[in-house]
Amino acid sequence: MVMCPCGLLQPYAQCCQRLHDSSQAAASAEQLMRSRYAAFALGKIDYIVQTTLPAQQYLLDVQAITAWSQQNQWLDLSIVSSQPAIKPHHAKVEFIARFKDQQGEQQHHELSSFVQIDTRWYFLDPTVQPMPGLKSACLCGSGQKFKRCCAPFLGLT
Ligand SMILES: [Zn+2]
Ligand SMILES: [Zn+2]
Repeated sequence: MVMCPCGLLQPYAQCCQRLHDSSQAAASAEQLMRSRYAAFALGKIDYIVQTTLPAQQYLLDVQAITAWSQQNQWLDLSIVSSQPAIKPHHAKVEFIARFKDQQGEQQHHELSSFVQIDTRWYFLDPTVQPMPGLKSACLCGSGQKFKRCCAPFLGLT
């Protein structure tokens, strides 16, 4: 039995596999975060792309993401804190991912932002360029201006 790498101590088949094979959608930003970590650990980069905000997907450097996932040995994930609904359709998850690279054991500590579109949660990637202007329509398709919607979650206002 293969255990899921996401930290919930469950068999993979009953945990993130159902998200990875699209038979189920993440019910919360935290669940999406866990399933994205598991996808990193298992080299399922398609899932990383599919769970990034649709408007950012084609801007992702898939080769770099693939290389980053393969260069490291992923040890575990801890969720530090989870803010499921800061305002409607937005959430933040703080986490620490431990991994081993050539220099030894490393920690990646991040406060990630997520946005819900229709019923699905997506990761808002703060590193993807270009970002829209603050007065332009938001990346997430909400119809609001970027500065009133997702920009504050990316630390851009
Ligand atoms: Zn899992
Ligand atoms: Zn938005």
